Amino acid sequence: MRMSKKFDAFVTWASGIKVPINKKILDQMAAWSQGMNVKANRSALLSWRVLEVNSMFADRISDVPKSFIREILKVAISPNIISFAGGLPNRELFPVQELQTASNSVFEHSGQEALQYSNTEGYLPLREFISQRYKTIKGLNIEPKNILITTGSQQGLDLLGKTFLNEKDRVIIEKPGYLGAIQLFSIYKARFSPVLLENDGVNIQELTVASKLRNTKLMYTVPNFQNPTGITYTNEKREQIANVLRGKPLMLIEDDPYGDLRYSGTHQSSFMHYLPEQTILLGSFSKTVVPSFRTGWIVAPDEIMEKLIVAKQASDLHTNFFTQKLLAEYLQQNDLNEHISKIKTMYGRQCLAMIECIKRHFPKEVTYTLPEGGMFLWVTLPYGISAMDLFQKAIEKDVAFVPGDPFYTDLKESVSTLRLNFSCVDEATIEKGIARLGESINEYITEYKQKNLTV
Ligand code: PMP
Repeated sequence: MRMSKKFDAFVTWASGIKVPINKKILDQMAAWSQGMNVKANRSALLSWRVLEVNSMFADRISDVPKSFIREILKVAISPNIISFAGGLPNRELFPVQELQTASNSVFEHSGQEALQYSNTEGYLPLREFISQRYKTIKGLNIEPKNILITTGSQQGLDLLGKTFLNEKDRVIIEKPGYLGAIQLFSIYKARFSPVLLENDGVNIQELTVASKLRNTKLMYTVPNFQNPTGITYTNEKREQIANVLRGKPLMLIEDDPYGDLRYSGTHQSSFMHYLPEQTILLGSFSKTVVPSFRTGWIVAPDEIMEKLIVAKQASDLHTNFFTQKLLAEYLQQNDLNEHISKIKTMYGRQCLAMIECIKRHFPKEVTYTLPEGGMFLWVTLPYGISAMDLFQKAIEKDVAFVPGDPFYTDLKESVSTLRLNFSCVDEATIEKGIARLGESINEYITEYKQKNLTV
């Protein structure tokens, strides 16, 4: 709860009305409550205690809204609802048996070692695997010493925030951008410079202006199958971006949790090819193996790595060592590419099914992205229709999605864009859900026109 500086707390009365009060009145009320009957006294004090704690929170956390998607997922969790709102990998693809076998073998051969504390940098064979994979898949020469294992790539982002950002430093971010990054950078009290994301990458004119603003330290991008839009930057755009940023005192973060999940089109090069000295890579096993292991990594040059290691030590000493060992064992016993190709086949089919259904069920004025990989598709509604209002209508028809609003850092009014996830919904359910969503959109447009609003 954000409180005006003049007040120390809010009191919520039984009627639900909230009243801001200062410390003096709060003390008086506490004294006065001594005379109340026991039940009223207890509940009044309980409520004050909570409210006083609220006034104690640091600005860095008070200012950051709750994860909007988590709130939405609470609504979407009901079994009747067809949910395109989540962002989870499909659990049917988790290599449960293989991980069990790998786990048994870790316990059998190195149980004691695997259960002990370990080093901050991460398990060397795992870092060697990642290094080797960069070489074979992307043609990048990255040494294991420049790879730090993190607790998911989300922690990688956190460590970068900790390492680079002072209050009010600027971060260039895609518009729309990854919600987890918006939330994270908000905790470090960064200022955002949102740059419009077009179909081939961010707008170069806007980026040029943003890159010249004082105290701009980071640019955050998800160049492959972006969350939330599914858009991939072309090589041409990547080169132009590198030309804009080259020599400026800022680092580009290439967050690439979906890069391996390309099911159509051609591979585009990492920013490491165009801007090696200013690029930091984030990677993750969450979408290619399992998310629960919380195993990701950062690739950074030596001098940055030194600081990141200190930041990580202070955060959690090291990432779960048992799961690092288990993962390394799994990767040794199995062919990751083979496993990834199963994921790509499934998501590719689901994505195609969703696009075909959209063509059939959505009105012509609705536009959408055509992802070549990943788990998301981005829809733009016509006539300035509010995706938030549509969400309410869609829930009545038991279908959920994420309205575009939380993906913007400069929101002035409700937006007409929304994110659809297809990785967790089978093709028959996609058909049913998109048909329902199409009905909701059509009904909304009809109502909108009937109200004689400008179209
Ligand atoms: N970056 C992006 C763009 C994401 O979509 C996600 C998760 N949805 C993450 C980072 C975090 O992934 P993890 O911490 O599981 O590696």
